[in-house]
Amino acid sequence: YLILPVFKDKVFSGYIVASAHIDIMLRDILKEVQLSKFEVAFFEGKNQKRSFFKSSDELPKSISSMREIPFYNSLWVVKVWPSTELFNKYGFTLLSKLIVIAGIILALFLFSAIRARQIINRQALMLQKTQDTLKEQLGESSRHAKELRLLKEMTDAIQWSPSLSDANVAIATYCALLLPGTTGLLYLASDLEQGLAQFTSWGMATPKAHSFPFSNCTALEKNLLNSLSGRDYGEGCQHLQTLYLTKSQSVNLCWPIIDQGETLGLLSIRDYHKLSPTDADHKKALLFLETLVNQLSLSISAIKMRDLLKDQATRDPLTNLFNRRYLEETLQRELHRAERHSTPVSIIMIDIDHFKNVNDTYGHDGGDEVLAKIGSLLQKYYRKSDIACRFGGEEFILVLPEMSLDIALERAEIIRLAAESLCLTLHGQEMKGLTISLGVATYPQHGTSMEALISAADKALYRAKSLGRNRVEVAQSDLSAPKVSSLEAILS
Ligand code: GH3
Ligand code: MG
Ligand code: MG
Repeated sequence: YLILPVFKDKVFSGYIVASAHIDIMLRDILKEVQLSKFEVAFFEGKNQKRSFFKSSDELPKSISSMREIPFYNSLWVVKVWPSTELFNKYGFTLLSKLIVIAGIILALFLFSAIRARQIINRQALMLQKTQDTLKEQLGESSRHAKELRLLKEMTDAIQWSPSLSDANVAIATYCALLLPGTTGLLYLASDLEQGLAQFTSWGMATPKAHSFPFSNCTALEKNLLNSLSGRDYGEGCQHLQTLYLTKSQSVNLCWPIIDQGETLGLLSIRDYHKLSPTDADHKKALLFLETLVNQLSLSISAIKMRDLLKDQATRDPLTNLFNRRYLEETLQRELHRAERHSTPVSIIMIDIDHFKNVNDTYGHDGGDEVLAKIGSLLQKYYRKSDIACRFGGEEFILVLPEMSLDIALERAEIIRLAAESLCLTLHGQEMKGLTISLGVATYPQHGTSMEALISAADKALYRAKSLGRNRVEVAQSDLSAPKVSSLEAILS
């Protein structure tokens, strides 16, 4: 048997055990030696016969040649003597000389063969070791390549998302792939909550969506770039305590996501220890996490900036409603969609009554405040698919996809009443009597193009003004479009 200890980074990590049948080995060696007509026997020690070749009677053993070969801890003996045929052919004295020479040759040969085999074995072992190291390095670099590929895919997926809020599934999917075996959460800074709000999560048993102030997390409070949470980390961190109610032996890690001094969010990982079973792995895992957090930070700040620019380009800063340009883009799209699916699209055009008087009485600032209030009122009566926009000055348009005329009229009336009952205090003075007038038009009965529909709603609004203001008026039916019975009912 060959038993070889294996060391990895100077640490004993096991044995390689190899076995070879000695008889077979010796036979192989002897095949290479030309000793025809001689009998050969091997002994391990003096007596234990291990191998015997050319079995025949042992008659002429008395004139055998014997050599001892020390091999590891035992002494091997090789004996050579002539075959009966050879003995009969040559005389005793010549034979004995021949036998001695043959024995010496054989012993020398055996010795060098054994040494050669030892060297070969050592070289094979070294080769094996090099192979193992190479395999390990190859595994490491293919893991690294996989991580890089996934990181790139995650970055692309975030960038392809229409907005940051749509990127949650992509982030969770890639975090689960990049941090296998862990449960984790990504929080994003929220202006609304004045802290962090859960954005997405992955893994098993993720807690319910929640939010918490910055001061609840030790990592954030101390503004640490990387705060490794040990088994006792939860002691000081309210965030982790509420997150994982039971004290577990798992190692939790909170890593703030910071971009140019601004806290964008927090990556919280449970079972972090599963990523790094050994100290060497731990260093690698931390390095990788730093890369992941940096990548998240870059991607999140980039998409946030894009959202902001898009917002600035599409929103009116005073009312935070969409602007006219955005309305024109989306209404056109909604009309195409409605045409394809044969669904209605309603629009409500709104104008503040006697707004000039508001400006005259409360100044331009007071007028702006009223505009902003009407803006937030419109956002209250808003489905996710609706588009509320400031059309210009004190005029607004609501686009209501898939909403029929009668429902749109109901909605318009609700908004009119809500505006009427708005409580406004301007310059310390309670403002009363603010009203709005509304014109409603629906695709396809009042127009099939964007221009025709807006013009129909505008005409209805004009009529509302002329009929005394603070009222809802419906557009006149386009004669080319088929009449709708419900519209007739409403008009009557
Ligand atoms: P009507 O009931 O017929 O609509 O009367 P109105 O006074 O509301 O309508 P008019 O078109 O005569 O006046 C609109 C006013 O809105 C004039 C303009 O100074 C004011 N206005 C337009 N844009 C803004 C704005 O951004 N801020 C303020 N404060 N006023 C604005
Ligand atoms: Mg106007
Ligand atoms: Mg007006």
